[in-house]
Amino acid sequence: METADKLKITATQMHLEPAEEVGTQVAPCGQLIPKGDLPPKKSSLGIFQASMGGKTVPILKTLLTSACERDCYYCPFRAGRNYRRTTFKPEEMAQTVSDMQRAGLINGLFLSSGIIKGGMRTQDKLIETAEILRKKHQFKGYLHLKIMPGAEEAQVERAMQLADRLSINLEAPNEKRLAALAPKKEFFEELLQPLKWVEQIRRSQAAQKGWNSRWPSTVTQFVVGAAGETDLELLQTAEYLYKELRLGRTYFSAFSPISDTPLENLPAENPLRQHRLYQASFLFRDYGFDLEEMPFDQRGNLPLAEDPKMAWAQAELLENPVEVNRASRDELLRVPGIGPKSAQRIVQERRHNKLRDLQDLRAIGVPTKRMEPFVLVDGKRPLHQLRLF
Ligand code: SF4
Repeated sequence: METADKLKITATQMHLEPAEEVGTQVAPCGQLIPKGDLPPKKSSLGIFQASMGGKTVPILKTLLTSACERDCYYCPFRAGRNYRRTTFKPEEMAQTVSDMQRAGLINGLFLSSGIIKGGMRTQDKLIETAEILRKKHQFKGYLHLKIMPGAEEAQVERAMQLADRLSINLEAPNEKRLAALAPKKEFFEELLQPLKWVEQIRRSQAAQKGWNSRWPSTVTQFVVGAAGETDLELLQTAEYLYKELRLGRTYFSAFSPISDTPLENLPAENPLRQHRLYQASFLFRDYGFDLEEMPFDQRGNLPLAEDPKMAWAQAELLENPVEVNRASRDELLRVPGIGPKSAQRIVQERRHNKLRDLQDLRAIGVPTKRMEPFVLVDGKRPLHQLRLF
C-alpha cells in the first residue's frame, strides 16, 4: 500500500486524539462554545494546524498501527471492529515524516499507536521511530509521543529524552469509571504511574538530559459522559494532575458514539459540558481557584447555563465587590472578565495613576462589560444595567 494511502487510513479518526490544535484553547470567561469544540482543520493525510508559543505549526497526527489487541469500548481502533487497518514500520514512518518535513508540509509529529503484542513492545517501536527521526534524519521539529499502557519506567525516560511532549490518556477520572470504558486498562499501574514517573524524573534529573535540554510537558485526556462520571470526579483528578504532577493540560473530550463499538447506542455528550470542564480546570490551573470553590450542584456537576467563574462571582462578589485600585493580582483574577493580561495591565497602571472609572480601564485595553457588577472603581460601583430577565 502507498504511504499516502496508509496515512489517509489512520487520519480518519485522529481528530479524536487531542494534541495542540489551533482552536482548542478555551478562555475561562468565554460565553460562546469555543472554537476548540469545532473540528480542527485537518487534511486527508492527518495534517493539523497546531498552536505553539504564538505560532501555528503544521503537524502530522498519525499512528504506527491502527490495529489493536485491546477493546476499549469507546475506541474506533478496538480489536474486532470492522475497520481497515494499516501499520508502519519505524523506519518507514521516520522516512515519511522526514520527507514531509523537507517538502514543507509539516514541522511536527504527533505519534500514537494501537497496541500489538503488549504495551512495552509497542512503546519500543514508538521510541525506535523517534530515535531514527532524531538521529538519522536529524529531525528538529516538534515531537509529541504517546506513552502506551504498560510501558516501563526506562521507556518513559527514553521517550523524555526524545520528545517535546508526552501524553498518556487516563480516559476516566478513577479506577471505577475506567472499568466502564476500558476494562482491560489498569488505572493506577498502567496509566497514572507513567505520569508519576515523568514527574519524578523531571524533579530528580537535570533538564539537560531532555530533548533540547528541556524535559517534555505532559498531557492527558478524559472521555466525558460515557461512564456516568461527575464533573467533580473529573475535576478532582484534573486538580491532582495539575498540582501534583504538573501536567500542561488535561483534555476533556465529550463522548460521541462510534458505530460497531459497545457504546454505539449511548447518546453523545453535550459539548457544552466539555466547555464548562475546560473553564473550571483553567480556573484552578491558572486563576488560583480551589476545587471546593467550583459551583457544583448536589450531584457534583457544574451548571451548564453559566460559566463557573461567573457563577462563583455572583455568589461571592455581588455583595463584596473588588476595588480595582487596591485588589491583589489574585483577587483581580477572580473577577469575571479579568484574565492574566488585564490583571497585569491594571496592576501596572495603578502604580502611576489612580483608576477613576471604567473609561480608565478601557483606555488601558481592559474590557469592562463582564466585570461591572463585581467591582468598585475608586470606591464607586460602576453604573450597571441589571438583567431583568
Ligand atoms: S488501547 Fe488505545 S487504540 Fe487500543 S482500543 Fe484502547 S484506546 Fe483504542
